[in-house]
Amino acid sequence: MHNFNAGPSILPPSVKEEAGRAVLNFRETGLSILEIGHRTELFESVMEEARALVKELMNLSNDFEVLFLHGGATTQFMQVPMNLLNPAETAAYTDTGVWGKKAYQEAKDYGNVDVVCSSAEANYTYLPKEFEIDPTSKYVHITSNNTIFGTQWQDFEKFYRSGVPIVADMSSDIFSRQLDFNRFSLIYAGAQKNMGAAGVNLVVLRKNMVDQVTRKIPTILNYKNHIENGSMLNTPPVFAIYVAMLTLRWIRDSGGIAAMETQNNAKAKLLYDTIDALPVFKPTVAKEDRSKMNVCFVMENAAWEKEFLDICQGANIYGIKGHRSVGGFRASLYNALPFSSVVYLTELMKDFASKKQ
Ligand code: PMP
Repeated sequence: MHNFNAGPSILPPSVKEEAGRAVLNFRETGLSILEIGHRTELFESVMEEARALVKELMNLSNDFEVLFLHGGATTQFMQVPMNLLNPAETAAYTDTGVWGKKAYQEAKDYGNVDVVCSSAEANYTYLPKEFEIDPTSKYVHITSNNTIFGTQWQDFEKFYRSGVPIVADMSSDIFSRQLDFNRFSLIYAGAQKNMGAAGVNLVVLRKNMVDQVTRKIPTILNYKNHIENGSMLNTPPVFAIYVAMLTLRWIRDSGGIAAMETQNNAKAKLLYDTIDALPVFKPTVAKEDRSKMNVCFVMENAAWEKEFLDICQGANIYGIKGHRSVGGFRASLYNALPFSSVVYLTELMKDFASKKQ
């Protein structure tokens, strides 16, 4: 199968094989990874390795803590403002897609929200460029890659220059490209795209991001408690963390984020070049904002979309139907998707186009 699904999504074969073995017999213990205690040396070593790999791959300074928390990225829409924003304070939010919108709607329950930019009026087909961030904002929240609409911030200078702590939802492009992660204050990502299986959330935060508010925070939602307990405040999602650790190892052993980025650039270039060359297919977002993770396109003649979708399905291509709010197609090119799958898809596209032109 050629798995272009947006998430949960394709994993490296070696990760699936090793995770499968660990379900039956974890590290030759005669026990399954699913049935060992989390407060054992066996699992603690998994957690420690996973946290260390995140620090190594992202080149994080010692000012940062790495947590693996329950829930998906949606939990962070609430947990971020609960931990960072007092009722009388204001946080800046960027409205660049469904997920960014959900994030700021959630934040309104905890403090003031200043939506500094929005491309909602154009169905989020571009990223706003002309806007100001009030330097007194408590933080500025961005979605680095908009999974549904297929836009991705390429330039973070405006955010860096604002001097405001940056909080980034990197759910759909974490570990896919090199960034200076030390310039962010809090990064979160659900694991189920570039980092493993669903069920766990990576949260990377500066140590000074705790003790920011006066409200009482429920124990399980307070970042400080998780930091103090080494991400083991309660029973963590053991298996999802194990799969994340294996995926992080795979990234390191494949050459790190730099190698992922090179591959991802090549995959995205091939697909976008093909779309641009074939009038049958139409890209849906502004060229300069194109995502290298989620490539969205429609057809010149909408009546052909079902036909091409059927061809894809018959050719073992999975997960390429566009999100209902965009329509058409969305090919997700996450780290684990091989270049050969993109070659395969583009050959089908060329073949289809030649029959229609
Ligand atoms: N943010 C982004 C950018 C996403 O792509 C998603 C899920 N596709 C979410 C947040 C929500 O994540 P979850 O379903 O893990 O809560």
